[in-house]
Amino acid sequence: MGEYILQSIVQSAIVLLAVGALLRIWRIRQAETRFIFHSLPLLLPLAYLPVFWLAYPVRASQYFRGNLALLDLRLWGSLLPWESTTIQYAAIILLAATLALYLLQVGFLLASRLRHPKAHEPEGAAQEKLASVFSGLPLFSSNPVRLLVADSQQPVLYAFGLRRQGIVISSWMVNALDDQELAGVLTHELVHLARRDNWMNVAVFALRTVTFYNPVGLISFHGLVNEIEHSCDAESVRHTGKPGAYASALLKIYRRTEQAGKGAGLRTWRNWIFSGTETLEQESEAKAIQRRLRLVLDPVPYDQRTSYPWLCLATSTIVLLGLMFFIV
Ligand SMILES: [Zn+2]
Repeated sequence: MGEYILQSIVQSAIVLLAVGALLRIWRIRQAETRFIFHSLPLLLPLAYLPVFWLAYPVRASQYFRGNLALLDLRLWGSLLPWESTTIQYAAIILLAATLALYLLQVGFLLASRLRHPKAHEPEGAAQEKLASVFSGLPLFSSNPVRLLVADSQQPVLYAFGLRRQGIVISSWMVNALDDQELAGVLTHELVHLARRDNWMNVAVFALRTVTFYNPVGLISFHGLVNEIEHSCDAESVRHTGKPGAYASALLKIYRRTEQAGKGAGLRTWRNWIFSGTETLEQESEAKAIQRRLRLVLDPVPYDQRTSYPWLCLATSTIVLLGLMFFIV
């Protein structure tokens, strides 16, 4: 078991590096394909679990290790200047640290849910403003979800519900954003709901949970969540046709979160760990918001992206699976 865990962590790390390079080399900009690429570092080692047992006699043989394997982890382990018990202790400490990081992530997710301010039906001026914005959104007329307002002077905006869907927006956002900016961010949430991204988030988190022992999972999780957000941004801007208004809303939200924050460093670190929930409000990390604004305002032209993303994906998967077979 320990050997499988070690193998899958090394395999994940190699696949992660390869995926980063392949996405750049092949200029894959299609969000759906990028999303699957980012899941490979976690999915492929998992897919290897049955192979690990079935092909065990072949791959574990001394002959395979000595003559065919590209990387023999046992050999590398024996080259370390420590006793095998020291290595075992180090592995246990590493595993405990990884588990702690995973539990921290779950804790942050639960805490952010509990910290949500109470939401109620919109009243007065807010109701009028939201009703007029919503009446201009075609996505809303095809899927009239519930809209609730939370009394908060901070940016809060998220879509909820796997079956009975709705959107919660804070009173600060209703006041601070103009009609076009509101239309932009509400369309973003409506796209999430229409695409059932909540289910996708559950699936991504399930994958992270199954591979909790793998520190690479934290990086992949981040990539997966970012891809969902970027593709949702692109789709919502296609609906509204107003990238400028959407970008201006993102900037307002970012500035407000920056003002409210106490320790920027800590917040960045925290966001990094638990981004993936209510991402519009949590994206206060400067780099992430910069990338998002660039993608919204300056999307990659069609002639600069690969025409065969699925072919690239299939080829990469086969090559990576082959590579992993020779890491024992
Ligand atoms: Zn979002």
